[in-house]
Amino acid sequence: MKIRIGYGWDSHAFKPGVPLRIGGLAIEHPEGLAGHSDGDVLLHAITDALLGAVSAGDIGSFFPPGDARWKGADSAIFLNIALEEIQNAGYRIANVDTTLVLAAPKIAPIAGEIRERVASLLDIPPGDVSIKAKTPEGLGLDHVAQAHAVVLLERVEENNDVRVMHAEIDETMSVGADEIDEMLKEMSRGRKSAVKKPAFDTEDFT
Ligand code: MG
Repeated sequence: MKIRIGYGWDSHAFKPGVPLRIGGLAIEHPEGLAGHSDGDVLLHAITDALLGAVSAGDIGSFFPPGDARWKGADSAIFLNIALEEIQNAGYRIANVDTTLVLAAPKIAPIAGEIRERVASLLDIPPGDVSIKAKTPEGLGLDHVAQAHAVVLLERVEENNDVRVMHAEIDETMSVGADEIDEMLKEMSRGRKSAVKKPAFDTEDFT
């Protein structure tokens, strides 16, 4: 399959005296988001979307909230593991679309900055990242921040070097095309075996 889609959602309650981080950006605000980690609701949703796109479990199965190592952890660590998972599965990000739902602070004035930060963490151009925000009208959730994220992945094509090597071996050696295909499949199987196996036995409180 050449493309895959992933969806992630997360929520965290606001808490006084905690630094606020959204999309890896430190934001001036009287309250932050409570969580076992740094509570970065947006990075958690994107992490889940990436893991979901390659059917690799969720953030809670990789980083159990009962594990003291992740207390106050920078959520960029979680994002990096999810990026490794999609790379190991042979995919890269085509684009990411997100929606934050929160009463305050206002996101529109800093959406560009969040976009730059998220794009930098994902190592993709800012034009491939979208940050939208809404207020939780009628939900009675003014002390909660929610984030939704959708990612589209595209399969990384066999690079030119491998294709040229394939053609050269084909011409100069007595190895048949079938055997070369088998060697390439073997390489691909080796790559897949590097994918970590999630536990699937935890709910996410990260
Ligand atoms: Mg979370």
